[in-house]
Amino acid sequence: MLRLPDFQYLAPRSLEEAASQLAEHGSRAMVVAGGTDLYPNMKRRQQEPTVVIGLRGIPELRNIAATDGAVRIGPTATLHAVATHPRLRTELPALATAAGLVSTPHLRRMGTLGGNLCLDTRCTYYDQNYHWRKSIDFCMKKDGAICWVAPNSRRCWAVSSSDTAPVAVALRARLTLLSVSGSRSLEAAEFFRDDGIDYLTRRPDEILSAIDLPLHPGWRMTYQKLRRRGSFDFPILGVAAAARLQDGLVEDVRLVLGAVGSSPVERSALAQPLIGHPPTLEAIKSVAAEAYKGARPLDNTDLNYAWRKKMARVYVERALSQVLL
Ligand SMILES: Cc1cc2nc3c(=O)[nH]c(=O)nc-3n(C[C@H](O)[C@H](O)[C@H](O)COP(=O)(O)OP(=O)(O)OC[C@H]3O[C@@H](n4cnc5c(N)ncnc54)[C@H](O)[C@@H]3O)c2cc1C
Ligand code: SF4
Repeated sequence: MLRLPDFQYLAPRSLEEAASQLAEHGSRAMVVAGGTDLYPNMKRRQQEPTVVIGLRGIPELRNIAATDGAVRIGPTATLHAVATHPRLRTELPALATAAGLVSTPHLRRMGTLGGNLCLDTRCTYYDQNYHWRKSIDFCMKKDGAICWVAPNSRRCWAVSSSDTAPVAVALRARLTLLSVSGSRSLEAAEFFRDDGIDYLTRRPDEILSAIDLPLHPGWRMTYQKLRRRGSFDFPILGVAAAARLQDGLVEDVRLVLGAVGSSPVERSALAQPLIGHPPTLEAIKSVAAEAYKGARPLDNTDLNYAWRKKMARVYVERALSQVLL
């Protein structure tokens, strides 16, 4: 049985208190929301904070508040709350679907949207216990010097495996980050970085404090997930698609792939030939063929990577057909 190491747990009552605790303890500290990712990682000594700052005692971080044109979701709103929220289900169904496809009912009641967006990247050589990793002399992401997936590589290729991240990018979510030096807001696409180690542009002293999503009247949207089992498993491919039609013609379309790289991969540009035309299966197939060429899954997650690449074509076609036809 894997045990948690000793650590100090702090339970701030306000966001400001949490930010000042994070600033005070510096690189020794991490924040925790549901703990469904951080605590297993600590048990495997992948992440080793000695101070853990819990966010769940801060009530305002749990709220989901819809206004006329947007919805603001607090980062500690659970995935269950997001998946079952009536307005999210009807007005931003791709987000509710993605949240509802994460793992299992138990984990969705503990795990949060903020934790899902900040989820650590994953790799077969990294998501192992300490002794397993030690037996291969570790790897570049933690404690070692080499990448076992691409030994000549100077970067880590661990995979962004969050279900909600590609949806947040497709729906143009804005994220607010707060620290003792103030707050800033950025597009979801700017939040993720294509680097398996340094996978977020969030500074270590910053707390994700709000997730704002514009409502998308008139849009159709979907999230399609590929995984080994129908529940429990992380995505090995996720496709977020959204589109708006006007008078039978495609007016706008967005396409973002998840779990094919260290960050969500926006492919909306490849779907631009659809715009201004009535949608056809033939045109969708040609976009899917282009999108699949760009997907370069590596041999560091579940199932065969060549098959996963082929499935990118199938899933893009399926997602675009759902929102356009
Ligand atoms: C068996 C199993 C299956 C899983 N399957 C899936 C799956 O299918 N899809 C999927 O996407 N995930 C999956 N997960 C991962 C995880 O359960 C979810 O991603 C969950 O949403 C994480 O949220 P959390 O609140 O528990 O995060 P935590 O564990 O609390 O935190 C995760 C990371 O985010 C940081 N963090 C959390 N909140 C904030 C904040 N507000 N500001 C700054 N940093 C923050 C933490 O410091 C930590 O680095 C699975 C986990 C397990 C154990
Ligand atoms: S991609 Fe390479 S460096 Fe990154 S976690 Fe996997 S083996 Fe380690």
